[in-house]
Amino acid sequence: MANEDQQAVSEILFPQPTEEQCQRRSRRLPNRGKQCINKPLVNCQILRIERIGITQRGNTPYIVYHTEYGRCCTFISRQYFWQSLLNLCGIKNQGIKRITAYGIRESSITVLEEKTRYSFPAAEMRAFLARQNQMALERLTVDIVEEKILVSNPVSQQVHEVTSQGCNCNDRIGNPCICKHRIAAYLYLRGLGWGCLQDYFRLGRGNG
Ligand SMILES: [Zn+2]
Repeated sequence: MANEDQQAVSEILFPQPTEEQCQRRSRRLPNRGKQCINKPLVNCQILRIERIGITQRGNTPYIVYHTEYGRCCTFISRQYFWQSLLNLCGIKNQGIKRITAYGIRESSITVLEEKTRYSFPAAEMRAFLARQNQMALERLTVDIVEEKILVSNPVSQQVHEVTSQGCNCNDRIGNPCICKHRIAAYLYLRGLGWGCLQDYFRLGRGNG
């Protein structure tokens, strides 16, 4: 079983893109500005991501997903995808500093930091990408108030508190949970120099 798994992963392992590859935009990518985490990848709510894939020619990642307008496909820049993998590891409290390669299978995603391998269900990455997109669509903002992390939606004025394991919203999956608020909190804290979310709770708030 382990052998079979290893073989499957080694067949589809993609190395970290070079600077040049990141600069050279795939012709498949939509021609409307560079994709970045703070901008929506898709300009409306993604109801569900059906599949994450990678093209055989050019190794361009893509998602097949459903919105209220129907079923669509969007190609993703290597840099956006790479950054998303790091973000997901960060909110899952995996202290991965640098991803050196990744592999995509129908049911799981594998990331490598040098020789350390870490796998998680592909369903988590699908849920993550949809929520990361939603975070950007809603332009969520983060404030630290008395060491509490409060994430606000500037339009609806809704505020949610993010904790080391969770969030009190209804749109979350997994444990530690994946939701748009925890993604916003992670990105905000990373901008301040923190690593994974757990680092902030462990080091920044004593044992809290
Ligand atoms: Zn939440």
